Amino acid sequence: MNILISGGGLAGLTLGYWLKQFGMHPVIIERAQGLRRDGYGIDFFGTGYDVAERMGIIDRLAQQKILADGVYYVNEEGKPLTQLSMDLMQKVMNGHYIPLMHWTLEEALYDCIKDDVEVRFGCSLSAVEQTEDSVQVTFDDGSIETYDLLIGADGIHSNTRALVFGPEAQYGRYLGYYVACFAMPDRYGVGNTWKNYIEPQRQVGAYCSNNPGELITFYMWQAPDTGPIPRAERLPTLKRVFKGMGWLAETLLNDLPEDAPIFCDTVTQIVMPEWSKGRVALVGDACGCMTLVSGQGASMALGGAYLLAEALHTQPDYASAFHAYETFLRPHIEQRQKSARDFAKSFVPGSQLGLMVQKVVLKIIARDAFVGVLRSMFGGDSILQTRALQRLPQSEGALIGYSFSGQIHASDYETLVLDIDHALEEHKQVQLLFELKDVTGIDFKAMWADLKFGLSHGRDIGKLAVVGDQRLSEWMAKLAKPLYAQAVRHFSASERAAAWAWLREA
Ligand SMILES: Cc1cc2nc3c(=O)[nH]c(=O)nc-3n(C[C@H](O)[C@H](O)[C@H](O)COP(=O)(O)OP(=O)(O)OC[C@H]3O[C@@H](n4cnc5c(N)ncnc54)[C@H](O)[C@@H]3O)c2cc1C
Repeated sequence: MNILISGGGLAGLTLGYWLKQFGMHPVIIERAQGLRRDGYGIDFFGTGYDVAERMGIIDRLAQQKILADGVYYVNEEGKPLTQLSMDLMQKVMNGHYIPLMHWTLEEALYDCIKDDVEVRFGCSLSAVEQTEDSVQVTFDDGSIETYDLLIGADGIHSNTRALVFGPEAQYGRYLGYYVACFAMPDRYGVGNTWKNYIEPQRQVGAYCSNNPGELITFYMWQAPDTGPIPRAERLPTLKRVFKGMGWLAETLLNDLPEDAPIFCDTVTQIVMPEWSKGRVALVGDACGCMTLVSGQGASMALGGAYLLAEALHTQPDYASAFHAYETFLRPHIEQRQKSARDFAKSFVPGSQLGLMVQKVVLKIIARDAFVGVLRSMFGGDSILQTRALQRLPQSEGALIGYSFSGQIHASDYETLVLDIDHALEEHKQVQLLFELKDVTGIDFKAMWADLKFGLSHGRDIGKLAVVGDQRLSEWMAKLAKPLYAQAVRHFSASERAAAWAWLREA
């Protein structure tokens, strides 16, 4: 299968790697002229860490980590108030945490594919046309090529999304902040730490990158959404917004040359009703940007790319693959988007009172005793490891099969609901097959989700076949009727074919 990927960032490069591993033929186009060494630092953990481990690049990334001495919140004179140590972060993430520069990750991903996957730099799309059998794309130099599929991995301001799904304004959800970053020499002794200073409605931070002596700044402020700030207006805007602020806020801006490149954007999520249209699908920030407030965009970009490639490899056709990828990933993205929206309200407190509360909370929580609370706040588990649910390739139309293994989570039910709702758009009822293999348990939230699932969707399920030799599968079959389906039968693992046949009977 020939697949064009628009965007050679984190999602695009990861997708290129895994498509190639699975025997497909990806080509990547990237608007930039080459790999960049500008940008910002990221916390890297969870799902992305898991994917990077599977790609064999963790040791390389760990060698280039930043922030060895931790994250500090300082007062207006730069004196530390609270510290979030790297040891604590490692404990929170079960040792799977690397703070690094965005470009470090991009370089490592690029090196994984550069000999096997064609990457065309300085290239973008100007038009996309779909037929039943293919996607015809026009590049910005006017040339035309035909592919089986097109994947938009071109970030929050995705060009593919604009060409195929419509303008960004339809999908953007502004969280109330602007963010800006720029690089400059560290003449201020910031060193191996990330220092942050916060006043009501504005925050400034600074940390050193892995380029020797280079400081990266971070400015974030509350403001109404007035759209993108043109390059020439960025420094004057920052000087105006951060006027009179303590610590290094004004000094850094005053020391910056007028023509220095400043990264600046709104903090905006992308929320879309569907991530694919015909032979075109989106991945990463292009369809599910969660923003820097979630601290997981990079991680989930790698995770999404892996899952999309895996679905294209395991599902019988591209439509089932796009569907399986979206139904599994969407609940995880939506849950992280919701957490980020909630967290955004207090990310940079709007008042002195809010700031005081934040300081107290930070002081209390940044301790070993709160590792569990921090872990659930960060949501640092890999969704690939906690994945209990796999859509079975025999699924078709109103006939949906899933295999369950490991621990069942609430998000598994959200995936199920999405899948069933999708089928109900065209069919009156759904026939379900659950195959249980080595299920180790069901967590508390999942039990509640299970009950809600029965109440909301039980009437939509005609037959439910529960397949498996575990005692749990027999119990599930016994308890399922009448809440979860109109007819329920248990089949042993060796009777799987009979279970499918029973569901197919009229
Ligand atoms: C200040 C800041 C801090 C952040 N901190 C964190 C963090 O701590 N942890 C975390 O996990 N995430 C963090 N993120 C988010 C993370 O960087 C993104 O979620 C992640 O980069 C998304 O990956 P992506 O591949 O989807 O998009 P990108 O990395 O943006 O890649 C998109 C690529 O597409 C290319 N492109 C754009 N338009 C076109 C076009 N027309 N044609 C061809 N190519 C095109 C771009 O040049 C780029 O290379 C942060 C983001 C910001 C802004």
